[in-house]
Amino acid sequence: MDATNFDVARMTRAQRAALPLNADVAHALAEQHGVCTRPLAMRRIDTTTGRTDIVPVPCGSTREDQCRPCAEKARRLRMTQCRQGWHLDTEPVTSRAKPSEDHKELMATRADLLAAYTECKTNGDELTCEQIADSVAELDAELRAAGVRGRLTPLDTPPKPVKRSTRRRQDTPELPRRPIERRTVGRVFAGRYRPSTFLTLTLDSYGRVDNEGAAVDPNRYDYQRAARDAIHFPALIDRFWQNTRRCVGWDVQYFGTVEPQKRGTPHFHAAIRGAIPRSELRAITAATYHQVWWPAHDQLLYTDDRLPIWDTRAKTFTDPNTGTPLPTWEQACDQLTEPAHVVRFGTQVHVKGILGGTEEAGRHIGYLTKYLTKTIGQAAGLGEHATDAQREHVHRLHAELQITPCSPRCAVWLLYGIQPKGARHSMTPGRCKGKAHKPEHLGIAGRRVLVSRKWSNKTLDDHRAERSAFVRQLLEQAGIQPDHGPQDGPYRWERTAPTDPDVPARPVLLLHAVAERQRWKAEYTAAQLATSGSPPTTNYSTAANQAA
Ligand SMILES: [Zn+2]
Ligand SMILES: [Zn+2]
Repeated sequence: MDATNFDVARMTRAQRAALPLNADVAHALAEQHGVCTRPLAMRRIDTTTGRTDIVPVPCGSTREDQCRPCAEKARRLRMTQCRQGWHLDTEPVTSRAKPSEDHKELMATRADLLAAYTECKTNGDELTCEQIADSVAELDAELRAAGVRGRLTPLDTPPKPVKRSTRRRQDTPELPRRPIERRTVGRVFAGRYRPSTFLTLTLDSYGRVDNEGAAVDPNRYDYQRAARDAIHFPALIDRFWQNTRRCVGWDVQYFGTVEPQKRGTPHFHAAIRGAIPRSELRAITAATYHQVWWPAHDQLLYTDDRLPIWDTRAKTFTDPNTGTPLPTWEQACDQLTEPAHVVRFGTQVHVKGILGGTEEAGRHIGYLTKYLTKTIGQAAGLGEHATDAQREHVHRLHAELQITPCSPRCAVWLLYGIQPKGARHSMTPGRCKGKAHKPEHLGIAGRRVLVSRKWSNKTLDDHRAERSAFVRQLLEQAGIQPDHGPQDGPYRWERTAPTDPDVPARPVLLLHAVAERQRWKAEYTAAQLATSGSPPTTNYSTAANQAA
């Protein structure tokens, strides 16, 4: 008899337990309770009591097709980050920690090693140099772990960068320039309003597209420019912020996301702290451009049937027929007289003033973070329902991205007869692992969320810790002592192998996590009732989910 035909309610407990646990049911239950659906089973050993538990540790994915609860949790954290910085009315303080004795000691040791290294180098003692380099690497790791930020003096002074001729400098756009004040907070209007800004920047048109974003005539759509613009979009955004700060005269802060439009082109949404006049933002956008000082890459010199060959003796890529070495990256760059590409924004600039704490602000934070749990391809609407024209359009764009170099180190350069920076034997001409060339990325390879340094002055980890501290505090106030918590331990963690006898099957692990979560929520609800005397607001599950 089929298991589903059993009347489960009529069975004894033992009979029910004997039923095979349906993995799909456990998965659905986990999703419903906001619990990671593909946790890692970790062995947690309490070093005080010796108690050992197998604990499900969340996968932490940001993509909902991998794990919806984890992705949603990550998105909510971004929303919190966005909200906290957008309408700040006081300057975020950067308190730099004073160097501790430990720090000073490590730094002093490092300085001694550095001196010894220089001496050995001058004496040609390569072996000792190598040993010192190893020690310094270890020391640096220790310094980083101790929270030391910033640049540590390298052992070997790198060769001076080649000075670019004035012609190659990025020209400054025709914009007014004001000295930059140290302020990051916006102005107050009419004595009480402190509006902030929502901005959307797009790229130029490459040809007409239909309602689904597919080229109406693929043969007349400029895929080459679209591919290059997508790859250099992050650099253009950087220039935009530089120009904005120079032009408006204060230290503008932003939380922005890069998303694909339906036509597969990146665009940029940003929450900006403070108000900037629309006309000014339009002028800055129009004047901003980024020049790509790379060698020209318009003519493919090599294709799959005739590719450059690595010469093991000369350690260089050569022409397959003549054996002549190809120009190196540095050689090719030396002769540049014009940029290979210039990227600019399109004419569409959307600017909106928004007051903090309003429904509108919340809605725009929603827009900003809406697609963060989706891949670029999914966000562009390229799912199973894509039209033939959409598929053809993406196919053409991808074909162009396959032959568009993504960085100076990209192996695609070899197709244009130029050795990439750092060329080596393991490179395959035309094959680059860079994200920009992957079909699901549409050339959008950089970070999806761009947050300026003084936005909320907190890292994502800080925001996360703040959330769980809030919940813990609430529980403490209500006198609820979670049966596990910071007072237990210290713990030692071990990875497990699926074949370990104490590791339960995934469905069991999921149910365990769901039970934990329910207990957490119950505790949280009780705490809310105890401290406020009123039932929890609808936000409670969010807060508890964030904290757990
Ligand atoms: Zn997960
Ligand atoms: Zn590449």
